[in-house]
Amino acid sequence: MTSPDRACLTIDLDALAHNRAVLVDVARGAEIAAVVKADGYGLGAGPIARRLHAERTRSFFVARLAEGEALRAELAHRDATIYILDGLLPGGAERLAASRLTPVIATVPQANAALARAAALGRYEVAIQIDTGMNRQGLSLAEAHAIIAAPGGLSALTVSLVMSHLGSATDPAEPRNAEQLARFREVRGLFPDSRAGIAASAGAFLDAGYRYDLVRAGISLFGGGPKEVPDLRLKAVATLTAPVLDIRNLRPGDRVGYGSAFTATRPMRVAVVGAGYADGVIRAAMGKGHAWAAGARRPLLTVNMDLLVIDIGDATLAIGEHVELLGPHALLDDLANAAGTVAHEVLVRLSSRAERVYLGAA
Ligand SMILES: *Cc1c(COP(=O)(O)O)cnc(C)c1O
Repeated sequence: MTSPDRACLTIDLDALAHNRAVLVDVARGAEIAAVVKADGYGLGAGPIARRLHAERTRSFFVARLAEGEALRAELAHRDATIYILDGLLPGGAERLAASRLTPVIATVPQANAALARAAALGRYEVAIQIDTGMNRQGLSLAEAHAIIAAPGGLSALTVSLVMSHLGSATDPAEPRNAEQLARFREVRGLFPDSRAGIAASAGAFLDAGYRYDLVRAGISLFGGGPKEVPDLRLKAVATLTAPVLDIRNLRPGDRVGYGSAFTATRPMRVAVVGAGYADGVIRAAMGKGHAWAAGARRPLLTVNMDLLVIDIGDATLAIGEHVELLGPHALLDDLANAAGTVAHEVLVRLSSRAERVYLGAA
């Protein structure tokens, strides 16, 4: 059971399975790979990946080599391909091999290292990332052409996946999406025997041309909408609640918290809640975001390190009663928008101070 005196982060693995099923349905035919970098978006890569594996996920992506090593141990004795988005960095080849991790080749030096390794071993499996216009990670089209032309190049190198990443997929009207897709179509033709993928969560919800063989789903597995607004097909995986510590009456002119964060202009009742930015409630949400208590949205007046204050109107709240700061009513995308950030950052900031409870089988 949860301790009533402490903020509680509930991670609902059944909701995770539901969201995966939604993605499977939306992406018809494409494999749904799971992106579980940054400790499964802060929710625990081990339980998240084990449940997704039980739901038939077989491909996983993380950013760092060390994340891949930890994930391989979490998935011990299970068949899974684990891709490392950082690729093949100097000194990393032995560690990649020891944990059976597949590097996503992202630069020319990495491609050369992979070719050398392929020549020495006779066979070396990689994924290749192509930069189709995000200008962040991946080989240019010209660099991809050069690798294919390298002597013996593709014969020993097994490119199991050719991938790219969309920079504006949360906005379906952005012309950049079609531009990136056109470049991807061209480069994909260079690797006819490889599987292909350009879509992350948001891309999976664009039209069918973006789906290819494999979708790299992150935020929508965790309930974040593909257009950065709530999508009611998806369920909240993370729920953060915290107890009411005190109810106070304010008079007009009373200031709450530090500086002039909030000044009452009328008599009002507020609840002091035992959570703050040290528990992952982003401070920038104060004055804009909402908690959910006594069946309604309640404005977040201030967010300090350990305490936050909400306007409770004329609601009746008991001391010790938990209010929802994130979850099925205080929606992830709404909180992200209120805080001027993305749902991904809201999740990865959920800290370890809140007590963690997993619901559903891992
Ligand atoms: C993080 C990441 C993803 C997952 O993105 P979501 O928006 O969370 O679905 C997919 N691909 C790459 C290359 C990433 O870095």
